[in-house]
Amino acid sequence: MSEPIKTLCPYCGVGCGLEVSPPAQSGKATNRDSDGNPLWQVRGDRAHPSSKGKVCVKGGTVAESLDKNRLKYPMMRDSLDREFQRVSWDEALDKITQQMQQTIQTQGADGICMYGSGQFQTEDYYIAQKLLKGCLGTNNFDANSRLCMSSAVSGYIQSFGSDGPPSCYDDLELTDCAFLIGTNTAECHPIVYNRLRMHHKKNRKVKMIVVDPRQTKTAKDADLHLAIKPGTDMELLNGIAHLLLRWGELDTLFIDECTQGFGDFARIIQDYPPELVARRCGIRIDHLEEAARYWAESENVLSLWSMGVNQSSEGTAKVRTIINLHLMTGNIGRPGAGPFSLTGQPNAMGGREAGGLCHILPGYRVVKNADHRRELEQVWDLSPGSINPVPGRDAWSMITGLETGDVGVLWVAATNPAVSMPDLVRTKKALLRSPFTIVQDAYYPMETASFAHVVLPAAQWGEKTGTMTNSERVVTLCPQFRPAPGVAKPDWEIFAEVGRRLGFTKEFDFANSAEVYQEFVQLTKDRPCDMSGLSHGRLRQQGSIQWPCPLEEVEDVNGIALSCSTERNINSESEEAKGLFSNLFRNKDETPEPKRLYTDGRFNTADGRAKFSAFHAKGLAEPIDPSYPFVLTTGRLYEHWHTMTRTGRIDKIMKKQPRPFMEIHPRDAHKLGIEEGARVEVRSRRGLSTFPARITEAIVPGTVFVPMHWGALWTDDGEANLLTHPESCPISLEPELKACAVNLTPVRLENNHNSDREEFQSQLPSLSEKTMSVKR
Ligand code: SF4
Repeated sequence: MSEPIKTLCPYCGVGCGLEVSPPAQSGKATNRDSDGNPLWQVRGDRAHPSSKGKVCVKGGTVAESLDKNRLKYPMMRDSLDREFQRVSWDEALDKITQQMQQTIQTQGADGICMYGSGQFQTEDYYIAQKLLKGCLGTNNFDANSRLCMSSAVSGYIQSFGSDGPPSCYDDLELTDCAFLIGTNTAECHPIVYNRLRMHHKKNRKVKMIVVDPRQTKTAKDADLHLAIKPGTDMELLNGIAHLLLRWGELDTLFIDECTQGFGDFARIIQDYPPELVARRCGIRIDHLEEAARYWAESENVLSLWSMGVNQSSEGTAKVRTIINLHLMTGNIGRPGAGPFSLTGQPNAMGGREAGGLCHILPGYRVVKNADHRRELEQVWDLSPGSINPVPGRDAWSMITGLETGDVGVLWVAATNPAVSMPDLVRTKKALLRSPFTIVQDAYYPMETASFAHVVLPAAQWGEKTGTMTNSERVVTLCPQFRPAPGVAKPDWEIFAEVGRRLGFTKEFDFANSAEVYQEFVQLTKDRPCDMSGLSHGRLRQQGSIQWPCPLEEVEDVNGIALSCSTERNINSESEEAKGLFSNLFRNKDETPEPKRLYTDGRFNTADGRAKFSAFHAKGLAEPIDPSYPFVLTTGRLYEHWHTMTRTGRIDKIMKKQPRPFMEIHPRDAHKLGIEEGARVEVRSRRGLSTFPARITEAIVPGTVFVPMHWGALWTDDGEANLLTHPESCPISLEPELKACAVNLTPVRLENNHNSDREEFQSQLPSLSEKTMSVKR
């Protein structure tokens, strides 16, 4: 039997190591998927530092999706009401190049937009940045991380001077108190959660606080579940800070020597006394006090959060206020303590490193910084001023740009905005207006392909070689282990080929992805995310490695790769920054290691100090009112992944979660005459969907929950994002996908053919039957 191939799970940001073996093993019958295709064997990699051999149902079944409904050939059509015709790569790329040149001539480079994905490998991300931001001079590249992690990115940048989660997974087993807010970790990041749950179970003194309007699987394990009303997170966070200040539970040495701005924050939190906070949040005062007491009495507090915090019109404010709690108590930069955002996509972190959002550039640089632009222009050999100093279009403004006619070419790769964007009626109508849309994906059909003029077949996980970075900054090489189907190509190769056809021959002269990676990591040298010591060869030889990993740290006298360093990169060389922290160098006697950032109390700001923020609570962008009296919240399920492009094709998963549903509290169900399993029309100001009711006390009265996974391919009338709105955080531009106001109407048998619903559905953009049929 051949040695299994080590790789990374392609689903979520936990980043579990996998071992993959070929379908045919000598002496054994070949396993097959439900379509009869030979099935690759997948198991957890015990040697992987992040997951230690564990996988969840998604990772364990991922191979079953590899041969289902694959897009094998490029296809084109003149207009959306025509059928696709199979074409050659040359024909497709000629058409794309011609369309891009025409758009540049008539609208400028800013008429071109690319919407990418945390499913990309870092090499895909990097080449896309070089093409758009470097060669074409438009920053109109955004990724689905905009809907996921951009609030965490802006929170880290504003508080610490740089992106990058400061903690690591070992902290899950070293903390005395885990503070989980806006994260159903048990279902959405299950392997991370298993580590925390085991630690919590074994150590009675370890506390777990869960803040969530739903009693999720995570909340059921908590010592304290704060079922706050949706949208009151800021009150709660400021309320905890108020009590810590009132009790004098502060790390004054840390505040004095390592931070700035505490005074303004201290003034703001005066306005959040416990009586007021408890009332607004809908929780008991003693529960609020208990939460604050856990913060005060614990040696090391670890905060975990994900979409419940990020997908909010106050997303950045929430992230920064979580960080405030860590700064005021000195809970950062040491084992078991720190603010830790859990990333959604498998390589959202790699995207951040490679500059994969419209306001950032490779190597944790930002578009608005003239030095950062100049550094890249020099490395990319571009004339000064080539990189546009203005951030490009974020995901939602690509949609509005289609509405106004300012977007001439929309290129969507490895993501599915016709399901995942907010306000889907508006989104789909805008997509229908697109002059030219390219959809590049591994699967067909998928919802967004219905809006494409050209579809390009992309090689996916296991069919190309590249790297991915998980939530704790661990980089793993994901080698190709099977051929891509048909003529599918890696995303980076497609971008590079278009670049060459547009005249940038030398800029995209790469023989393979290892060369791409080599160019990219050199750009991270002396940056906070320094990976200049990494290469495909080293990762293949040594396994997964955490950054920072600077070049000079990794070679001994014989040039043999050794280990990385924790030497922090600090942007400022000011005397003040150098003179600070003499009392606070926490790790001065310890062996340097890269697990945690900011172990020396020095941050990447100009003066080396972390910044407190001072935000008042604003609440939901769309509060309830008499016409729309319920808050709808959306979320993920353990079994499914995002828009089901893979998991919808795996029988085992579809048997467990075949259709969407709506959770409602018994009190509300009784009041509205809704019975278990009965269909309920859920209507917002933007749209209408229908779900069978699941009556449960696990959700607070006044709030209903629906999963976000199902798109038009998998459900006739249960799309969650037909209801949500696009109002977003003004700093991170992340939409508030987590909450909107709705009303509920039980569907009676006699009005099953409700004329309202039929009228609404008749307004939905019609999709070609030819591009939407799928074997279910
Ligand atoms: Fe994959 Fe995430 Fe499950 Fe790990 S927890 S196996 S990375 S989906």
